[in-house]
Amino acid sequence: MSSCNDAFARLRLAPGGQAAPATTAGLAAWAEIDLRQLKRNYQWLRQRAGAPVMAMVKANAYGHGLLPVATYLQDAAQADWFGVATPEEGVALRQAGIARPILVIGGFWLGQEAAVVDYDLATTLPDPSYVAVLERAAAARGVIAAVHLEVDTGIGRLGLSPDQLTATLKALQPCRHIRVDGLMTHFAAADAPEQADFTREQIRRHALALEQTRAAGFAPRYVHLANSAGLHAFPPAATGNLARIGGLLYGIAGDALSPAFPPPPTGPVLSLHARILGLKAVPAGTPLGYGCTFTTRRPTRVATVPLGYGDGLHRIQSNRGDALVRGRKAPIIGRVSMDVTMLDVTEVPDVALGDVATFIGAQGAAVISAEDYAAVMDTIALEATTSLTARVTRRYLFDPTDTSSA
Ligand SMILES: *Cc1c(COP(=O)(O)O)cnc(C)c1O
Repeated sequence: MSSCNDAFARLRLAPGGQAAPATTAGLAAWAEIDLRQLKRNYQWLRQRAGAPVMAMVKANAYGHGLLPVATYLQDAAQADWFGVATPEEGVALRQAGIARPILVIGGFWLGQEAAVVDYDLATTLPDPSYVAVLERAAAARGVIAAVHLEVDTGIGRLGLSPDQLTATLKALQPCRHIRVDGLMTHFAAADAPEQADFTREQIRRHALALEQTRAAGFAPRYVHLANSAGLHAFPPAATGNLARIGGLLYGIAGDALSPAFPPPPTGPVLSLHARILGLKAVPAGTPLGYGCTFTTRRPTRVATVPLGYGDGLHRIQSNRGDALVRGRKAPIIGRVSMDVTMLDVTEVPDVALGDVATFIGAQGAAVISAEDYAAVMDTIALEATTSLTARVTRRYLFDPTDTSSA
């Protein structure tokens, strides 16, 4: 398919998108995205689910890069489904040659229904009133729009309440241009062992909603409940015939999984690095950075690296957390500013300009996981990777034999 080849041409042209772990010369700060690990994660997830897996690629594929991630998953891992939050994300996928089914989990707002229909995006309906809007748009083009009804079984967020489900099913009855392809719900607390009964109640309510939907004359082909935490903590059979997976796909959901079960064999896809581009020795008593929040207590070697909150580090990391330099922990000192962060590299032997400081990832045996990195920011790894901004060059590692078959 030429569209796939086009997408891979762009992937190959992505900054640093070499197939081999070639040089990072010329890069001062970058995130490395290991698409081979992403593929292994996807394949394991499909085995675990025993069902199709919807690769959640919303929010720039959790910061990993929407188009390279989706293109590789489609062509190298034969991904079954893609999940996005907004119609715009779905349109971007179609324009890049993604041909697999796409679900817009966040539904659409008035005015976006044309994109949903034109780009063949399946959508949820956040309110019964959207039924008529979608039916009109699909009828105008003579096509059938696919919907997945999201039922609120306990999360209280998006999803139809019992009354709204009844009203939506009624509104759908006369629609000849909408097909109910799916019935889904989203777990609120599948990662919390003490909330297992709550999750079981969500599963029970979803089964009732399915009965109601069938009684109204609809036969949704996909029944789906599980996110990463749900797939990890509940038998796949209890969570339907499609799994919507984000965190575990990227191997970064360790802090969003139930501790009651062994961790899955998925591995992290993203690592974050920057080079030391300034290095100086300062005496004890030297204040460092905005606000002079850090004063050296000994003669100190200070390294400056070009990553700051403009790249997705958080200012709360000021004087907290570490990066790895030459396999050793180098503490963050002073304020994290927009473009640069300082590290105390006094304890790093032979430290030199150009040395790589790893904020997320491994250097030899030393590891800072995305979960560790996020904990310093008082958040979870999903927020940490999603926060990486467009300024951070994504360098993609992939197996070229995976990409030539497209
Ligand atoms: C983001 C999202 C998912 C994926 O959740 P993970 O915890 O990242 O696996 C699944 N379903 C819905 C509705 C979502 O919004």
